[in-house]
Amino acid sequence: MWGWQADAACRGMDSSVFFSPHGERGRARRRREEAAREICRSCPVSSPCGLFADDSRQFYGVWGGYTAAERNERAPGARRR
Ligand code: SF4
Repeated sequence: MWGWQADAACRGMDSSVFFSPHGERGRARRRREEAAREICRSCPVSSPCGLFADDSRQFYGVWGGYTAAERNERAPGARRR
């Protein structure tokens, strides 16, 4: 289930690039999310990562190049933040 993580471009990186600190909003949030997306764009396992996030309903963080808001929009009935 987690085998794809061995090849993740974010492996060993500080997770704060991918997950929002408490109270983060606006431009700071967009900048951090874009930095995370840039890493995801070069990741060889972005597809299984994104599928995992959808299947396990990860409500926080950038997974597979998609923000939490983008994933929540694609998942009817999912909790929104
Ligand atoms: S797609 Fe992004 S979050 Fe997912 S494993 Fe790759 S670098 Fe990490």
